[in-house]
Amino acid sequence: MTEFHYETGADGVAVITWDLPGKSMNVLTFEGLRELDAHIDTALADEAVKGVVITSGKPGSFAGGMDLNVLADLKNAAGDNPAKGIFDGIMQMHGVLRKIERAGMDPKTLKGAKPIACALPGTTMGIGYEIALACHRIFAADNPKGKIGLPEIMVGLFPGAGGTTRLVRKMGAMAASPYLLEGKTVEPKKAKSAGLVDEVVEPEDLLEKAKEWVLSAKDADCVKPWDQKGYKMPGGAPYHPAGFMTFVGASAMVNGKTKGVYPAAKALLSAVYEGALVPFDTALKIEARWFTNVILNSSSGAMIRSLFLNKGALEKGANRPEAPDQTVKKVGVLGAGMMGAGITLVSAQAGIEVVLLDQSQDAADKGKAYTATYMDKGIQRKKATPEKKEQVLSLITATTDYAALAGCDLIIEAVFEDPGVKAEVTQAVEAVIDEDCIFATNTSTLPITMLSKASKRPEQFIGIHFFSPVEKMMLVEIIKGKATGDRAVAKALDYVRQIRKTPIVVNDARFFYANRCIIPYINEGIRMVAEGITPPLVENAAKLVGMPLGPLQLVDETSIDLGVKIAKATKAAMGDAYPDDAVDEVLFWMADQGRLGRKSNAGFYAYDDKGKRTGLWDGLAAQFPLADTQPEVTEVQHRLLFAQVLEAVRALDEGVLTDIREGDVGAILGWGFAPWSGGPFSWLDMIGAAKAVEICDGLTERHGPRFTTPPLLREMAEKGDTFYGRFGPPAQAAA
Ligand code: NAD
Repeated sequence: MTEFHYETGADGVAVITWDLPGKSMNVLTFEGLRELDAHIDTALADEAVKGVVITSGKPGSFAGGMDLNVLADLKNAAGDNPAKGIFDGIMQMHGVLRKIERAGMDPKTLKGAKPIACALPGTTMGIGYEIALACHRIFAADNPKGKIGLPEIMVGLFPGAGGTTRLVRKMGAMAASPYLLEGKTVEPKKAKSAGLVDEVVEPEDLLEKAKEWVLSAKDADCVKPWDQKGYKMPGGAPYHPAGFMTFVGASAMVNGKTKGVYPAAKALLSAVYEGALVPFDTALKIEARWFTNVILNSSSGAMIRSLFLNKGALEKGANRPEAPDQTVKKVGVLGAGMMGAGITLVSAQAGIEVVLLDQSQDAADKGKAYTATYMDKGIQRKKATPEKKEQVLSLITATTDYAALAGCDLIIEAVFEDPGVKAEVTQAVEAVIDEDCIFATNTSTLPITMLSKASKRPEQFIGIHFFSPVEKMMLVEIIKGKATGDRAVAKALDYVRQIRKTPIVVNDARFFYANRCIIPYINEGIRMVAEGITPPLVENAAKLVGMPLGPLQLVDETSIDLGVKIAKATKAAMGDAYPDDAVDEVLFWMADQGRLGRKSNAGFYAYDDKGKRTGLWDGLAAQFPLADTQPEVTEVQHRLLFAQVLEAVRALDEGVLTDIREGDVGAILGWGFAPWSGGPFSWLDMIGAAKAVEICDGLTERHGPRFTTPPLLREMAEKGDTFYGRFGPPAQAAA
């Protein structure tokens, strides 16, 4: 398979065109790297070649990055000495890029290099940009849709093909930090003003301009600053007073943000710091060592698996039943409240026609106005144009008239969380919609099978559960009722794909999957307050283990009265088996005090007039006195984590979850379950079932039966099984 094509023109410029067959965007494979290496050798050896342009055969993009499947394979295939195998593989990559950078120059005089330019038609990510960084000049087409940058940190890696070392030496540690530490990507013009690329040109002139430069470049144009004598790092190296401040600040910031649980961020900083103290080629070796360290860390493997491979597979329809294309053309949204307004926005943005219906025209208009306000903010931030706003708004009809729903192929109901109201609207809608229209409910707590009883077509009735705020939250939980048919599932999945979110498909049970796991987390935190555990210990223990919000902050955000409502409904349904009276003691008392969370500017946290959190509320201890002895942080963390993961295991055992990939991806995207872990099942595999059982047994003894080890987990511990080994797709077992 040819991935890089080589051609020399009469002008003496060799053009190497990257065009991976069968893919819409290039990704680097080992075969591709070998081809690029061979073409560079040919160009450097051929006296007729004056210089080289590396470009892409894909319109609008240079590369999406490294083929992360290859990284996973590399780890698995490295044999008895994986560290050496990985390190050698990375050094091979450095060898090719360094060859491009030196381009045959005399090492003493730094003369005689053949100029090599990179011509980027648009999007250039990860290794794609690292190749560009090794070239002598980077040209980018003026393509506002193109994104340029190094997003590796987002999947638990860092730029390990010289990108870290080169970018820091090119722009200084401070300026490089948003690109390296936050994975920031920017469009070509911004990339030029930031110093990521050298020139932005009209797309049709891209190749010509790059060739012109190659033909006119002098020796000095081909020597990188770090290869010149007396090179000084912009902003100062670590022992320079200015550099010292940068590195101290960066360490503090990274540890503050990551709480030390993301190995890639720490390894990146170490590679930058240590690399800054030594010559360039040694810095590359240091970078390779740290990159090897990260690849070998189970967190990076788990993050790549969940956040890249499995997320991608789910988005591509891994669990879509066989059914003809169900692309949604016209969606009816019932209820223009918080959720209905958000669903309208994301649907119209995806180009779908929306009929937004509420009880009064005023409410419907208000729901539509949410999209207008959102687009206005986008215009202010230069992310949208007035034309785009008009185009999106023109797709939305706000109405009270059910007849307007005619012709909809999907309905999403988001009216009050009341079975009676929901049944009423279901029947009213079914009187006007076409026979084959799919009806979805966005309920967060009511069983789909029960709600579908109001429908004449239960096989066309399904749950499409969004998270709030709809436009920000990437997960959509699709819930099958007992009678839900395949076409309804396919419709929901095709719709989620249209709005570019990530779906999981689960079976109907109390709280479905995400809320089922997150409620015990919140409850465990509140229960600790009742026990007299100091709230800062609860909140910080959660954050130190990688939860984005502590349980008390989370309940403040979602609102304490919602917690009360859910608790009352759950107690009514469960009767004597209800396990959370101790939680309710605190929760109901808070609600009685009018401390309803962020929305009332008072909750477990105190807030200032502007709604900003000012710290944990100090009035809590008067009602729930602190215990004399406080637990170890680890004990608090185990309680908070096992409250969630045991529910995930039970959901799997009961068949609510049918795919652990969905359990992991859903947990990270749905409620932010410690992303460094790859999700609850990945985390259990990381610590091992035997250890998990030991912790559970201890927690049960100290805190009661809610931590009882699920029989499945105990059996897995006895057999030495892992979740991915037993339930994962075969290829992922050993990852
Ligand atoms: P909301 O109170 O903000 O909005 C409900 C809207 O439905 C109101 O505008 C109301 O006027 C309208 N409505 C009520 N009865 C109606 C009827 N008969 N016909 C037409 N319109 C009617 O509520 P919300 O927070 O948007 O929640 C809506 C649904 O989404 C609920 O089922 C809720 O459980 C679910 N949900 C909420 C969240 C969340 O975080 N708020 C998250 C996921 C799912």
